Amino acid sequence: MSPAAPDRGRAAPPCETIVAAATPPGRGGIAIVRLSGPAVPAIAVALLGALPQPRFATRAEFRRDGDAGRATDSIIDSGIALYFPAPHSYTGEHVLELHGHGGPVVVEELIARAVAQGARRAQPGEFTQRAFLNGKLDLAQAEAVADLIDAASQAAAAAALRSLQGEFSQRVSALGEALAALRTQVEAAIDFSEEDIDLLPAAALRGRLAPLVQQLAALRATSVQGRLLTEGVTIVIAGPPNAGKSTLLNRLAGHEAAIVTPIPGTTRDILRERILIDGMPVHVLDTAGLRAQAGDAIEAEGMRRAQAAMLHADHILFIIDAATDPGASAYERESARLPRAVPVTLVLNKMDLCPLPASGAAGRVPPVRAGLASIALSARTGAGLEQLREHLKASVGLVQSGSGVISARARHLEALGRCADHLGMACRQLESGGGRELIAEELRCAQQQLGEIIGIDSPDELLGRIFASFCIGK
Ligand code: GDP
Repeated sequence: MSPAAPDRGRAAPPCETIVAAATPPGRGGIAIVRLSGPAVPAIAVALLGALPQPRFATRAEFRRDGDAGRATDSIIDSGIALYFPAPHSYTGEHVLELHGHGGPVVVEELIARAVAQGARRAQPGEFTQRAFLNGKLDLAQAEAVADLIDAASQAAAAAALRSLQGEFSQRVSALGEALAALRTQVEAAIDFSEEDIDLLPAAALRGRLAPLVQQLAALRATSVQGRLLTEGVTIVIAGPPNAGKSTLLNRLAGHEAAIVTPIPGTTRDILRERILIDGMPVHVLDTAGLRAQAGDAIEAEGMRRAQAAMLHADHILFIIDAATDPGASAYERESARLPRAVPVTLVLNKMDLCPLPASGAAGRVPPVRAGLASIALSARTGAGLEQLREHLKASVGLVQSGSGVISARARHLEALGRCADHLGMACRQLESGGGRELIAEELRCAQQQLGEIIGIDSPDELLGRIFASFCIGK
């Protein structure tokens, strides 16, 4: 992993020693309890009788009390101890790892013993937060740690690893440095302009700005792919009762997630399933059927939740029973209530029941309504499903899931978007003959947005939010 820049204007890290299980709760072959902080050497001596040789796996007995007693009941467990003295550790502090037998009782007793010796239980993400505060990782790399652990597919894991190894941060930093260099030149030119010397004529400045705009556009495009692999998209299946929403959910999930019956109103709450399309996590939500009049209060609440889910979706699949409603009148009825900002695809289901030629044409079909993408399929037989997956990939913009993709989050995309806005403003100032001071200011703001991605002068509230989303022990 390439080392992150140590100076990012952060407060000195806390000096408390923290402890947590680094392995998930439950039973397993091995469990690891990890400690980080200044008291680690003293706690190691108390628990192990001696400080292990740095960076060597040391066979050790984890002791119940400080005495070097040999009776079995004075030992919590025996296992492997690993000691990483500061600064050559994950957090940059003294770190001790105790690899014991993987049971909750052993883990809890080891943690309690460390606490009795002066450590405190770690908060979520606190180990990685310390790595960030000590300059071991930048913010985007720290987020990539969580993304690698949470990766839902090989493609997402590979993208997270690339970001963790610093590919994303390096591209962001390089662009930031190029912006800073240009800004310095623009500012220097302002100083000389009083002497009627133009150090950076408009044509030269235009020539310097253009490649930066292009690099930013390329970085945004890669980040969009990364975000799709990291965070995925949410797709809501909506439509009238009995159109086949639950059958489609089950077909996409590959198992019977939802109850399918010919009785309208069976799905009353939202059912969620996560599927993968080319390594991209897709959160599919099956909602209560939409109809003019709800049968009862529960169905009415289900319909309200369906509307709310659609509001937050990346894409809506509005499904109709093409056998009984070939003109999509159900869509006509509901379309005014669908959120304007969310793209909709009309799914003509039950094509196996439709007369030819329509049933022969599974997949993308001419729009039933002008401007509305339409897919014909049979959720029962699976015909047209592959075309639906391809259509979804294209609709959300997934074009690349293999090599070269780096993991990215919505937060990164937003910052890159703001950076592009400031660069755009700088270009417009240049074209309209605006003052160089204004251009320099736009460049400064653009650079600041890039700094926020990797954690330069990021507000504490943002850091708190990011690390709080980690698990304890990360
Ligand atoms: P929902 O109310 O929209 O969730 O609809 P369901 O998935 O519960 O399906 C309603 C009925 O339509 C069930 O009897 C399903 O077996 C049937 N159905 C769903 N999809 C198809 C399809 O593609 N072809 C045929 N022939 N029947 C289907």
